[in-house]
Amino acid sequence: MKPFIRPQELGFDIDGVVADTMATFLRIARERYGLNHLSKEDLISFDLHRCLDLDQEIINDLICTTLDDVNTLELEPLEGAPHVLSQLAHCGPLRFVTARIWPESIFQWLQNILPEVPRNLIEVSATGSPDAKLEILRQLGVCYFVEDRFETCELLAHEGFQPIVFDQPWNRRGNACPFPRVRSWQEIQQWVLPLEDELE
Ligand SMILES: [Mg+2]
Repeated sequence: MKPFIRPQELGFDIDGVVADTMATFLRIARERYGLNHLSKEDLISFDLHRCLDLDQEIINDLICTTLDDVNTLELEPLEGAPHVLSQLAHCGPLRFVTARIWPESIFQWLQNILPEVPRNLIEVSATGSPDAKLEILRQLGVCYFVEDRFETCELLAHEGFQPIVFDQPWNRRGNACPFPRVRSWQEIQQWVLPLEDELE
């Protein structure tokens, strides 16, 4: 059954949901370490130390470089994200909550990929940790949250939020996933944008 979501009650994680962050991770892995064999399907755990047979220092370097300001601004959005978010912005502010520490570069990136959305309708909260998302979501009045880290989804559900898992290789749990799962932004659009009536 599709959830019936009011746009005002919906929030979004950024990395792995709006931004194809792992594509950048893999590009840097190729360019800097010659790791040409790696693909997104190898990333079967959000904790990359658990799924990649690489030195800890290399993984840490790749994560830091992926998230730095230069590479943040070069991220590619996931297919359909800019279009659907631009539509949702007609219903009110877009609320993004990220576990990144610094909001500036990812906020700039969101402005870049959403040129039609007024700057004041893009709200970014950078919590510095997944756990700290809870309090921010409470303050924002967000009930539904699109997230790619399974452990964060569990945490949200435990606290009474409705997580929506954005399907990625690192969050697949077979039939054991108890949460609604979307595989594309087109699917998110179907769950939310029937409320386009509200625009009238
Ligand atoms: Mg994420």
